[in-house]
Amino acid sequence: MLRNADQAGLRGFFVAGSGTDVGKTVVTAAMLRALWRLGTPAQALKVVQTGVRDVQSPLGDTHVYATALEDMPQAKAVQPTQPLYCFALPASPHLAAAQEQTSLCVEHLCAALRRFQAESAPALLLLEGAGGLHVPINAQEDMLDVMAALGLPVLLVGSNVLGGLNHMLLSLDALRDAGLRLAGIALVTPADPSAGCPGVDVPTLLADNAAFLRQRLAQRGCDAALVTVPRMPCLDLAAWERLSSLLLPLAQALSTPCAEPRNKGELLLQRDAVAVWHPYASTVTPPALAPVARTQGNRIVLADGRELIDGMSSWWAAIHGYNHPQLMAALHGQAGRMPHVMFGGLTHEPAVALAERLLHCLPADMERVFFADSGSVAVEVAMKMALQYQIGLGERQRVRFLTPTGGYHGDTFGAMSVCDPVNGMHSLFKGILAQQVFMERPSCRFDRPFDPTSLDEARRKLQAHGQEIAAVILEPIVQGAGGMWFYHPDYLTGLAALCHEAGALLILDEIATGFGRTGKMFAMQWAKVKPDIVCCGKALTGGVLTLAATACTAEVAANVCAHGQVFMHGPTFMANPLACAVAKASLDLLGETDWQERVRSLERCLKHGLNPCATLPDVADVRVLGGIGVVETVQPVNTTALHRFFVEQGVWIRPFNRLIYLMPPYISSAEDVGHLCHAVRLALSAGIHC
Ligand SMILES: *Cc1c(COP(=O)(O)O)cnc(C)c1O
Repeated sequence: MLRNADQAGLRGFFVAGSGTDVGKTVVTAAMLRALWRLGTPAQALKVVQTGVRDVQSPLGDTHVYATALEDMPQAKAVQPTQPLYCFALPASPHLAAAQEQTSLCVEHLCAALRRFQAESAPALLLLEGAGGLHVPINAQEDMLDVMAALGLPVLLVGSNVLGGLNHMLLSLDALRDAGLRLAGIALVTPADPSAGCPGVDVPTLLADNAAFLRQRLAQRGCDAALVTVPRMPCLDLAAWERLSSLLLPLAQALSTPCAEPRNKGELLLQRDAVAVWHPYASTVTPPALAPVARTQGNRIVLADGRELIDGMSSWWAAIHGYNHPQLMAALHGQAGRMPHVMFGGLTHEPAVALAERLLHCLPADMERVFFADSGSVAVEVAMKMALQYQIGLGERQRVRFLTPTGGYHGDTFGAMSVCDPVNGMHSLFKGILAQQVFMERPSCRFDRPFDPTSLDEARRKLQAHGQEIAAVILEPIVQGAGGMWFYHPDYLTGLAALCHEAGALLILDEIATGFGRTGKMFAMQWAKVKPDIVCCGKALTGGVLTLAATACTAEVAANVCAHGQVFMHGPTFMANPLACAVAKASLDLLGETDWQERVRSLERCLKHGLNPCATLPDVADVRVLGGIGVVETVQPVNTTALHRFFVEQGVWIRPFNRLIYLMPPYISSAEDVGHLCHAVRLALSAGIHC
């Protein structure tokens, strides 16, 4: 079986001190005692201990946990626990680890924690972090990233002084931005509460701070409990009993897992079934759905805590994985400044910067960018541009488009008219869709020598219909949703020359293929081809928000706008600043990472994992290009059975028709891609697809 150990997720919570020396360890130990008093088997674990030479040291915090449970024989059974990592230097974990020629990272910490829970199996794990949320564990990651990766609630421990409140409120913002739940707040009385406020009535001051913080929590719609904790002069059994009594309400809330019902996912499905419509779905026989609670990296976490390895990048989009900190930072930063403003008569930095950035990575003669809110609309925009271009030239009779079969360009009416006429919805919308001109799909495979006769039909169609064709539209190199077909780059070069001769524009739809997926930044870069119009979308924002762009040459723009004309399009949410800011961050991130190497490595793993499928009896073809791996079967597959099987296997793969295909996020590890491929092989050899 695959990955059962880490599919279930951890149960427990983090204890994070906002500020140092606030009594985090004492609160953790008292919480531990409170949980045991409630009959909840719990175990506390210090994630990283610094300033202690070895894990057994009596100077470590671990022995404090033990003293809090000293008179509880039932708790002794699971004691003691040693810190997960221990470093001698009394400094931040990243420094302390470096001093010992080692390093920490989120991935390894999480794996170690999962192993720990699998081995020791307490009902609840109290994870004491190192200091506050933003304590660094290496140059890129901090404690908050560990918490976000595990998705556990966080109990904040802070000092009951003005600076402590400030710390606490900033920590609340950080937790909210990371999508984490506040488990509660323990407000600890400092050693000298009246320091800096001579003559103040201390009990009033402490109570007022707590009241203020409760009010702020209420304003944020947060119902987590806040408990004030006195400072104990001596930590004897009576003190532990008193502290744990105070913390009982927090322990109560945490030991009954979430205030949410256990069957939350089930309830969501019931509500969904009566209110929501899903893509390509019936409301009479609604599709099977998996309720998702959150995402992280290349993982999709279901409502019941199961984790799926993502093999789809949410339909080509999430190339950097989910919740990437750089994209999230761009989103939060822009949300604070300006989430949206109309684009008619106004402009803004995010749109201009993104247009410049896009033109910088597109072929050199692209000179203008028009922003749209989805891929289909970007295709409509491209088609309208081509029509207005021809009108500008006085070629009013050019009102049709030539396109290969097997294409997919979106679900709006213009886009649908150029989708594959059989797989698309042409028979359903007969008489309504514009009648375009179709030619056979590029028949020459990507990985075979080029066959020049594959261009014959394009040549014939352009000869027959040349005068009425405004543009040829197609997906470069990879036909995506229409069949996951990879064709030879020379076809594209030849087709561009034919378009040029016929006076038809060339529109390349890079919505699926753009931003590195095929191993080139844009798939058209496999060929020497100069399109007139290019559409991008999907991975443009790294999968965070909906945004698409249609770029064109100066010549197209000039003719669209000839004779005082304007381009007749303007979506309400055009150039949405949030989406533009995230898209710019995504392109910057691509620029900073060696995405070519990552896509090459995806290609190696996909070939290694999927090629063995080629010998299976029901398999017609296996093909891999860049980060796309396809197994084509002889018969249409049983999608319902396969979807269920893959979720059981801990992977997210959505086959359709005769295609089982993978396009994992670029950040996926070789091991995870191995799991994805293994699940595909298993499904095919066990006959699940039949
Ligand atoms: C997905 C896709 C579209 C449509 O994009 P939406 O954002 O879904 O409207 C258009 N063209 C291609 C090649 C696509 O893959």
